[in-house]
Amino acid sequence: MKIIRKSAFLCAAASLAIAGCSQNVDSSEETTETEDTEAKKTLWGYGESDGPASWGDLSEDYATCKTGKEQSPIDLPAPSDANITQVSVNYGASEAKIVNKGYTVQADFEAGFTMTSGENEYGLIQFHMHTPSENTVAGKAFPLTAHLVHATEGGDLAVLGLMFEEGEANPQLQAMLDNVDSKVSIDVAAMLPDSLDVYNFAGSLTTPPCSEGVNWHVATKPVTASKEQIETLNELMGNNARPVQPLNDRKI
Ligand SMILES: [Zn+2]
Repeated sequence: MKIIRKSAFLCAAASLAIAGCSQNVDSSEETTETEDTEAKKTLWGYGESDGPASWGDLSEDYATCKTGKEQSPIDLPAPSDANITQVSVNYGASEAKIVNKGYTVQADFEAGFTMTSGENEYGLIQFHMHTPSENTVAGKAFPLTAHLVHATEGGDLAVLGLMFEEGEANPQLQAMLDNVDSKVSIDVAAMLPDSLDVYNFAGSLTTPPCSEGVNWHVATKPVTASKEQIETLNELMGNNARPVQPLNDRKI
């Protein structure tokens, strides 16, 4: 993500959240902020030697990936009245900068879109993609997920995860795919399922530095993308899903 360094943590969060987020700390998130950050070398990835199982050992900065107790992603239970809540969003259509970060494809926004969760209002910074879905539901992964990364003015991060199942082509994803490394109008509201029932839980960035304190939301109702769109994103990003992490004492 590209948040600004003023919220370094934000960036981190953004990035991680985004997993696609991720590599970025080096490049993406932080990059946006300061050029020196950009120059920082990315240490992590999804390969054999730099993949999720090694992240916590690659750098002291990534220690939380190994020692954290509220790490993302997680396996979510089947939805029920007991574990579902609602959020409200103020999204619309706005020009976004589409960036292929290598470890993810990301859409950066400056539009002032917001998500309200409980008492907190978060501004949309970016969304990015993972194949497969990172968070799972009752042990099942979806083929694709979008992580909409938000932050408060104080830098607290919140993510809204959308699950995609294979089906009708998704026009917003197509706009994204047709404009990688360019700008295009994306209608964020049009990406949402028709009801915004969500799981809500404490989590982390899903990429190094795996910072915790991220207010996670995942919509219970999936949306669709075509087989070709899912395959195209997978070709661009590779498998960029961190495996699910222990729930520990968290409640959903
Ligand atoms: Zn992500």
